[in-house]
Amino acid sequence: MQTILFWFRRDLRANDNAGLFLALQAAKKVHCVFVFDREILDVLPTKADRRVEFIRESVVALQLKLREMGGDLMVRYGHATALIPALAAELNVDAVYANTDYEPGAISRDNNVAVVLQAQNIGFESFKDHVIFEKNEILTQAGKPFSVFTPYKNAWLKKIDNTFLQPFQVERYQANLAALRRAAEVPPSLESMGFERTNIGSLLAFGMAGAATLRDVFIKRLADYKDKRDFPAVKGVSYLSIHNRFGTISIRELATIAHTETLKRKNIGAETWLAELIWRDFYAQILWHNPHVVNRTYKPIYAALKWQNDAQLFSAWCQARTGYPIVDAAMRQINQTGYMHNRLRMIVASFLTKDLLVDWRWGEKYFADHLNDFDLSANNGGWQWAASTGCDAQPYFRIFNPVTQSQRFDPQGRFIRQYCPELQNIPDKFIHAPWTLPPLEAQEINFVIGRDYPAPVVDHAVQRDQALAMYKAVRG
Ligand code: FAD
Repeated sequence: MQTILFWFRRDLRANDNAGLFLALQAAKKVHCVFVFDREILDVLPTKADRRVEFIRESVVALQLKLREMGGDLMVRYGHATALIPALAAELNVDAVYANTDYEPGAISRDNNVAVVLQAQNIGFESFKDHVIFEKNEILTQAGKPFSVFTPYKNAWLKKIDNTFLQPFQVERYQANLAALRRAAEVPPSLESMGFERTNIGSLLAFGMAGAATLRDVFIKRLADYKDKRDFPAVKGVSYLSIHNRFGTISIRELATIAHTETLKRKNIGAETWLAELIWRDFYAQILWHNPHVVNRTYKPIYAALKWQNDAQLFSAWCQARTGYPIVDAAMRQINQTGYMHNRLRMIVASFLTKDLLVDWRWGEKYFADHLNDFDLSANNGGWQWAASTGCDAQPYFRIFNPVTQSQRFDPQGRFIRQYCPELQNIPDKFIHAPWTLPPLEAQEINFVIGRDYPAPVVDHAVQRDQALAMYKAVRG
């Protein structure tokens, strides 16, 4: 082929990028483009969206990197379904290449683009880059998709070898990158797209460089991952999820680190972390094989659950005033930073569904709007797991107790105090359930429940029974 247009989406990096590599290998000249797609941007509920800023800054960095390599990045704002075919025609390319996106909305967008391109006699191809194994690559012995994680993980580990982890060495063919066309293009500013600056720049570093720094810091902690990953007040996890979401780091690179460490050093931390990366593949294939999960329960029987959906309780959850400190601190973390620790995601999701009896889809939507790392497959999988409606979900009768979870995973209330400073002086023993603080002690520190911090909006023991009844009603 003479010329290809490479379309960046959730793969904002110039190294180890499958589609970009294959484009450069196949054509003498490769133009690169990123589109701020109004189909996605126009429906975002706030104009102060941390993710848009993350993408914009990462795109700016990617453009610089491609220029260093002798190429360039065109950055457009509009509707990708119209812009991509128009640009492909203008540049007179033979094909448009991209990396595969497995979300139903993206699949239909890509199908539409492919149809228009075909009418223009231009090909469209997409490649596996976002996951290690995709679609039907890992199936049960009966040739069916897996619905339970552990056997999926075992099959994944059995199949993995260097051929799946090999980096795509973009540098080898970088001479085929099409150089700057006219004057240097400036990516649209946030303001020109109707968005505002957020606090994300003070929380994390953007682009490939930001991801590489986090990776290097995390590698030093990898061996401790298993022991520390469940404690939100401790730096135990990698915090790489936003980079995995937008592809500012290659998943092959991360899986190689985890896999090599597991094999060579029998590093239990690395082994545990590798399992998390496999969860990512697992949920991606669940969504691909079961697109119905986007709106419906994975297990049909739970479609009939009678959620109470009390709007006031839901708003107490969103606004971090449930009276359960671990839940409120977690909700303040997501509201203030766009990140929430995995243990806390499980706690607040369980609390919303099984204590407040609110439909998991309400929580899923709230997370989708607020999480920096929002990923449809992982988010849907996490929510359906917590609500016990999903594949390999936790059994409906296992209901997290928010107080004991708090005692176990934030024993001194360090995380709680970070986000709920009004509980600063509550002794460790009572910080998980401040309404139990004896009156004399409360008086001593001038703390009044209901004035200084909300009384619990529900009684966990009562709600637990209601939840069990709700599940039993559909199970018969
Ligand atoms: P680490 O512990 O360092 O894990 C490494 C990487 O593995 C993560 O960056 C992520 O890419 C992947 N990963 C880890 N756990 C999971 C998992 N359970 N499922 C899929 N991938 C995983 N993760 C998202 O990336 N986006 C979401 O929208 C999302 N929503 C969630 C909603 C709920 C209710 C729950 C319970 C979990 C959700 N998760 C989601 C999974 C998990 O909480 C985050 O991936 C993790 O907290 C990100 O932090 P980290 O990068 O430090 O993770």
